[in-house]
Amino acid sequence: MSDVLARAAELDAADPLAHHRAAFVTDEEVVAYLDGNSLGRPLHATRERLAGFVDRPWGDRLIRAWDEGWMDAPTELGDTIARVCLGAAPGQTVVADSTTVLLYKLVRAAVDAQVRDDQRRTEILVDTDNFPTDRYVVEGIAAERGLELRWIRPEADSGVTPDLVREALSDRTALVLLSHIAYRSGHVADVPAITALAHDAGAQVLWDLCHSVGSVEIALDEHDVDLAVGCTYKYLNGGPGAPAFAYLAARHHGRFRQPIQGWMGAADPFAMGPGYAPDAGVRQLISGTPPVIGMLPMRDMLALIEEAGMAAVRHKSIALTSYAVEVADALLAPHGVVLASPRDAATRGGHVTLDHPDFRAVTAELWRRGVIPDFRPPHGLRVGLSPLSTSFAEVAAGLAAVADALTSRS
Ligand SMILES: *Cc1c(COP(=O)(O)O)cnc(C)c1O
Repeated sequence: MSDVLARAAELDAADPLAHHRAAFVTDEEVVAYLDGNSLGRPLHATRERLAGFVDRPWGDRLIRAWDEGWMDAPTELGDTIARVCLGAAPGQTVVADSTTVLLYKLVRAAVDAQVRDDQRRTEILVDTDNFPTDRYVVEGIAAERGLELRWIRPEADSGVTPDLVREALSDRTALVLLSHIAYRSGHVADVPAITALAHDAGAQVLWDLCHSVGSVEIALDEHDVDLAVGCTYKYLNGGPGAPAFAYLAARHHGRFRQPIQGWMGAADPFAMGPGYAPDAGVRQLISGTPPVIGMLPMRDMLALIEEAGMAAVRHKSIALTSYAVEVADALLAPHGVVLASPRDAATRGGHVTLDHPDFRAVTAELWRRGVIPDFRPPHGLRVGLSPLSTSFAEVAAGLAAVADALTSRS
């Protein structure tokens, strides 16, 4: 037992990204934070950025600041996310709303365009293990637009494969909605293969990047992705309720129209015209006034990720999850804990889920002790490892505490 735990110190000493951990706010009471995929830690730089904002530009520029940067923030910050994390050229990404609301807008825009072009395309392909909000949004849109949902049923400990998608596609498919990384198992979907399959069938694809942005390399332009959404409060450390981002490939601008027509997505908001004319570019995806304050913290994390580089971030992410699997095999498997994530690092994202019937109670007890994974029903302990803020020692301490908790229950 001590062998595998002792290795943590060696791994931390050899980690070329270890010095970045000092950029994050920590607290003595927190022994191991294993939920960076749910809410990233704040950065020290963010404290100053938020406090300073009150004086400048809010306090001194006041309403003038809208013309001096705030109006452009949705597309300017969208372009930054695109450059640092998405492998996407400028002009295709905006920051706005929540993931849920952007999902609604993009799904509606895509299915409406598809049905307009071909009335037989009445199916949305989605998987039973997709994140609840994704499933609920398409359930609502199917009812609203008279469409049908076609369900892919992946294995719980893996995810949606190209074969499963191929079997479900037909000339009736309008849109395929999938998560790049499964929120429970951490399985990484094959974006280029699945996107190409969908296109061959005349369908469009919307990728939910909530669990991949900032932890796994993404190449939206290269892989010909049509649409994507993602969170900024997980691996982009944007803080609770930080706005989401949406990507709409340039080739669809003008063809896709989102349903929530607001003045901020209009071609000329301050013309205050009698009717709505959408902006010709990706800005049409926004509806109301941009959440400027909510966009502040993620800038610090994006700068840090850009400095480290996404390839190095992914490299560390694989090292962290591989180590977590190794510790789980050594310390937790004897207690009957089962790995519910892919063993192959190439198809595993930045988190690992472990199953045991006692994990609901164990998680509550761990939280009281400052060890913070999260619980995902029916009995998964999810260990999220944010590459720039998590140490190997933290993984070791956290999983040793899980072993302790299981020992004292038996
Ligand atoms: C976290 C997450 C969401 C969250 O949506 P919100 O609207 O921000 O609450 C959506 N989809 C996936 C896959 C997620 O992991």
